[in-house]
Amino acid sequence: MERPTVSEYIERCTRCGACKAKCPTYLEELDESMSARGRLRLLHEFEGGRLQPSSLLKHKINACLHCGACDAACPAGVEIQEAIFKGNSLLRPRSFWFRQINRGALSVSRTNLFFKISRFMHFLIYKPLGFDRKIRRIPSPTATPFRQRQMLFRKGISKGRVALFVGCSINYLYPDIGEDLLDILLNLGYEVVLRQGEVCCGAPVREAGYDDLVLDLARKNVDIFSGMHVEAILTACPTCTLTLKVQYPKLIKVQSDFIDKIMDVNQFLADRLDIKLGFSGRVFYHDPCHLLHGLSVRAEPRKLIKQTGAELVTAQNEIGCCGFGGIFGFTNYGLSKKIGDRRRDEIIRTGAGTLITPCPGCKMQFEDSFKNDKKMRIMHSVEFLHEAMTSFRSNSNKQ
Ligand code: SF4
Ligand code: SF4
Repeated sequence: MERPTVSEYIERCTRCGACKAKCPTYLEELDESMSARGRLRLLHEFEGGRLQPSSLLKHKINACLHCGACDAACPAGVEIQEAIFKGNSLLRPRSFWFRQINRGALSVSRTNLFFKISRFMHFLIYKPLGFDRKIRRIPSPTATPFRQRQMLFRKGISKGRVALFVGCSINYLYPDIGEDLLDILLNLGYEVVLRQGEVCCGAPVREAGYDDLVLDLARKNVDIFSGMHVEAILTACPTCTLTLKVQYPKLIKVQSDFIDKIMDVNQFLADRLDIKLGFSGRVFYHDPCHLLHGLSVRAEPRKLIKQTGAELVTAQNEIGCCGFGGIFGFTNYGLSKKIGDRRRDEIIRTGAGTLITPCPGCKMQFEDSFKNDKKMRIMHSVEFLHEAMTSFRSNSNKQ
C-alpha cells in the first residue's frame, strides 16, 4: 500500500496545540520540539529539505513514546502517530549491522533465538553486574515460553471457543499471565486455542522505523489467525491489540473478520464474568495509553475490578502515561524514568496497596519505578482477576 508523505498527513493541522497539551514528553521537557506539534513541524521541514538529518533531529523524533495521546486529542483528525512512524522510517539508522540486528531479533523466524540469547545475557551479565538495580529492571526471559505447548485446551463441556494472540512480552517475559488467563477462560467454560506460528505483532519494529519488516510479520499473523472458527481472538497486551486491529489495516489488506475478532481480554471478560469475587483492599487502576487512547477501552477493566469487591481509588491525575513506550523505554531510559517516577508518585498519593494495569509493558515499567518501594503490589489485571477467582473458589469450597 502507498503511504502518504508527512506533509500529506499533516495538511489538516491548524497548529492549535491540543496535541501538545497531552504529550508526555512535552509535559516533562517543556520544549516545543519534544511535543507532538513540534515533531510534525520538524518532520515537515525535514521532508521539504530545509532541515538536515542530524542526530539531534533523530533524537527528537525517536523520543516519541507512540502513546497516542496526541491522536486522541486532535480536533482535526490528523494521524499524528502515522506521520511520526513515517518520520521514524525516514530517519532510521542506515547502517547494515543495525538493520541486521533488527531483522535478526524481530523477524518472523528468529524471535525465539533472540530471547534465548537475552536469557543467557541476563544471567551472565545483567544480574551479576547489578544492572537491574543500577539501570532498568527487566524480568528474566523464561526458559519455557508460554506458547511452547499443546495448542488446544478444553475443560469439560465447552460453551464456546476463543483463540489467544499471546504476544512476545507474555510469551517470553510474563508467561504466568498467560497461565492465569488460560485458567480463567477454561473455568468460564471456553475452549482456548494457541496458534502455532504466531510471530511478534511488529510494534517494536515499527517504532524502530522498519515498516518493511513489519509487513512480513503482519502478513504472517493475519494469515494464521484469519478464518478461524472462534468467537474472539483475545490479547492481554494493548500494544498487540492496537497493532493488529488498528495498524495492520493501514499497512496491508486485512479481512474484516480478523479485525472484528481481535479483542482486549477485559472487553471479553466484562460481559461474561458476572460473579462477585473475593478481594478486599484499596487498588489503583492505571490506564495503558494504547488501550485508552488507541482503543477507547476504559470502563470494562474498572467494572471487572469492582466486581472483585476491591475499593477502586482514583488519583488527582486519573490519566497519565507510565513512560515505558516499548523501545523508547530502553533508548531514552532517562526520560522514560522521569515520566514513570512522576506517575509512581501520583499513585503512591492515592494510598492504594495494589496497582493494577492490563498491559505487560506498563507492568514492567512500574516494577522498575517501584523497585525501591516493595510495599506496592504490581499486577496485570489478568493476574488480579485470577487471584480473586482462586480465593473465591477456595472460600466457596470451605463453606
Ligand atoms: S491537535 Fe491536531 S490540529 Fe492541533 S496542532 Fe496538533 S496535529 Fe495540529
Ligand atoms: S504519541 Fe505520545 S509521545 Fe508521541 S508525539 Fe504523540 S503524545 Fe507525544
